[in-house]
Amino acid sequence: MKWIYNVEAFLLDIFFPNKCPVCDKDIGYDELICRECEKELEFVGDNYCPRCGKTECICQKEEIYYDRCFSFIYYKDAGKNGVLALKERHGTGFAEYFAIKAVEYLKENELSNKIDVITSVPVTKRKMRETGYNHAHIYAKMIHRHSGIPVNGKLLIKTDKTLVQHELSAAERKQRASKAFRFIGDECLVRGKTVLLCDDIITTGSTLNYCAKVLKQAGAENVICCTIAMTQLGDGKDIKKNADVLAYK
Ligand SMILES: [Zn+2]
Ligand SMILES: [Zn+2]
Repeated sequence: MKWIYNVEAFLLDIFFPNKCPVCDKDIGYDELICRECEKELEFVGDNYCPRCGKTECICQKEEIYYDRCFSFIYYKDAGKNGVLALKERHGTGFAEYFAIKAVEYLKENELSNKIDVITSVPVTKRKMRETGYNHAHIYAKMIHRHSGIPVNGKLLIKTDKTLVQHELSAAERKQRASKAFRFIGDECLVRGKTVLLCDDIITTGSTLNYCAKVLKQAGAENVICCTIAMTQLGDGKDIKKNADVLAYK
């Protein structure tokens, strides 16, 4: 049936030319990003801890609730622009480009058959009402499209409680952020199961960790995290900024 999808994409391209989600240049109907942007992506390879997913391992310093974490690129240049495009709703091709890589990774690491359900880090209910859009879930749905593994975007929610917090200390903010995520699905969907938890980016890892904790409390046996990008070590300013945005978005 894939050829039908290709014919549809080809015809659509005649009326609505396909654009690179990163730089907005016209690309072929069967391409997801342009070659120049692809060349600019900096892949992380296996230059990180496969357990915590970070270039500087934090496994001994913190309690990590997820079991494994993988990412593909550093959050910089074309990689950064692609993630921002995805957040702003026009980076679907960028999410699909990495979803294909995620499916390959799962196969290579013999994980494809072990994952029971794919889910994503939620945005707040208010943001969902305003935009009707969760960029992390676009990535999750693309992995579902290329793997056939069931996807469920209604397992976790994020509350608005973290929004007003200027006068709170860092410890209080962390405490609040940890309570921002709740499990709202049917527990039988995760009990004893392996969950693939998707997000666009890993910075401190705390958002993924809060979500993994909630999934484990609901009975999940394993949680594997899967993000497109990671912030680069040494880029302290960016990491700090992103950590704030991510932990409390
Ligand atoms: Zn491009
Ligand atoms: Zn580690």
